[in-house]
Amino acid sequence: MTYLWKKCWEGNLINTILTHKVNCRDCFRCVRSCPVKAIAINKGHARVIEERCILCGRCVRECPQQAKQVDNQLQPMLAAISQGKRVVVSLAPSYIAAFPGHTLSGLAECLLQAGVTAVAETAEAADKISELYGTYLQNIKPGDNTLITSCCPVVVNIIEQYYPLLVTNLAPVISPMLAHAKMIRNQYGPDTFVVFAGPCIAKMAEGCEGSQADAVITFEQLEAWLQGLPAYIHKAVSPATPLLPPGTPGPGRYFPVSGGILRPWVAPADCDDIIAIDGLENCLEVFAALSKSEFTPTFIEAMACTGGCVGGPAMGGGQLLPVKRNKIITYAKMAMDTACPYPAATGTIDLRRQYQSRPVNAVTPAEDEIRDILKQTGKFSAKDEKNCGACGYDSCRAKAVAVFQGLAELEMCVPYMRSKAESFANIIVENSLNAIIAVNEKMIIKEFNPAVKRMFGAGKEIFKGMSLTELFDCSDFIATAQFGHKIVGKRVEYSQYGIITEQMIIPVPEHGLVIAIITDVTAHEQKSRELQQMKLETVSKATEIINKQMQVAQEIAGLLGETTAETKSALLEMIMLIKSKGDM
Ligand code: SF4
Ligand code: SF4
Ligand code: SF4
Repeated sequence: MTYLWKKCWEGNLINTILTHKVNCRDCFRCVRSCPVKAIAINKGHARVIEERCILCGRCVRECPQQAKQVDNQLQPMLAAISQGKRVVVSLAPSYIAAFPGHTLSGLAECLLQAGVTAVAETAEAADKISELYGTYLQNIKPGDNTLITSCCPVVVNIIEQYYPLLVTNLAPVISPMLAHAKMIRNQYGPDTFVVFAGPCIAKMAEGCEGSQADAVITFEQLEAWLQGLPAYIHKAVSPATPLLPPGTPGPGRYFPVSGGILRPWVAPADCDDIIAIDGLENCLEVFAALSKSEFTPTFIEAMACTGGCVGGPAMGGGQLLPVKRNKIITYAKMAMDTACPYPAATGTIDLRRQYQSRPVNAVTPAEDEIRDILKQTGKFSAKDEKNCGACGYDSCRAKAVAVFQGLAELEMCVPYMRSKAESFANIIVENSLNAIIAVNEKMIIKEFNPAVKRMFGAGKEIFKGMSLTELFDCSDFIATAQFGHKIVGKRVEYSQYGIITEQMIIPVPEHGLVIAIITDVTAHEQKSRELQQMKLETVSKATEIINKQMQVAQEIAGLLGETTAETKSALLEMIMLIKSKGDM
């Protein structure tokens, strides 16, 4: 049982795309970019729902945190090499644009040095598939049922999952990858470990079919591995002359570009009823129209990636799409011009394929259920629905449906959460007994709460945009703005307002603000002053008593002698005690 077969057997295609929770910053960009909304947000983290996912790989490319990780099947390949198995690598025809500076022979040499038994171009099999499509195209009659090419696994996924009525329109032909895997086994033996390398993520799941490919790796993964091999670096400086042994692939090398399947068979002028579409949105739009019989061409070449496989999600190789496209076409033309006549299908490989309808079953909520959910995020009528897309859904209703289906959370509504947080903060600020005031670096008041008016508003108007200097001396605020120091617990008396305050002044440089929380401690301060006064009076009284006592003592000194000195000492101790407890 091979690695991929084992995965399929266990129904474990989930791992093709994983989301690393720790990296996920719940920005919802993947939700926004997913054309079929196959990403659920749970407790703020994104997760791919495998039965909805068409493996287009868009979310992997879009995630700004690299939280989406594609399965890497390089390890099973390396294990097969180390176990001494025959390992043959099938290189997708777009390789010429994915490894600029490397010829097929150069790449093959690196792989052979790493222990691979042989390297071949998947285009060998694409030639045979091309011939089959040529037969279909030459036999098309007006009014025939629309035939859709099945080379792109994402196209097959879209139809099987979202337009199951169209499965009968799919050409009953296996993809070049699967055909090539069969050819390789015919040539090298049934126990050969077949590895496919290409720009596609969906092929990882497709490789399972019939246990044909044992491992599927992307060009990006292959490049990352090869970078560590000395032979690869050495080959990078060799001229990029294509290797074209006689009789090698011809039209199959056009497959990675949009229109490439049709190219050898249909002249552009004949294309009215025979069309080539590329890009997910185009595919979805055309299939929707086709399923409603609004559009019924006889033949559709469909590729999910923009520009075809050359725009695949794991293509690598840098460069602009048109540059890559030109490279592939130039290479294919050379092959067409120099290779021997188109090879006849051997008939030894079974190219047939069947499809299964796998409709995505999602429960649609009733109108009152949608309204209930909308209400929970403050949308009581259509005018409250902002349809801003911040949650990743095109409209508030689409997001409410997703909440009902367990794909989205109420808290994903950014405007609602912001207004909730703001109103919560506003309640606290508005009702605080402390004066809260925010000024910019020029001491212009930007925000303040009602307590500011209570403390400093006697006889004057306070408004946003006025200078704080008009209210009081703000040298502490200026120092905080200039030096970024926080001032905590400083007592400041404003005699003009008859108040004593305790202040905390905080710099907020990222917003160019200084915020102060000012507590009115006048009453507390007055109490402690009264207490102090009382203590002073007590001490003064005690001193008076001592003085009087001393006078009496002197008069009767002769009589009392040492007793007088003891009384004095005791009274002085009492004074010291009162002084020490009273902070005098
Ligand atoms: S794009 Fe998706 S996976 Fe990536 S950080 Fe944003 S929510 Fe998380
Ligand atoms: S691979 Fe495509 S379909 Fe699957 S979750 Fe990502 S964006 Fe959606
Ligand atoms: S167009 Fe090619 S690379 Fe893109 S999903 Fe389809 S097969 Fe894969």
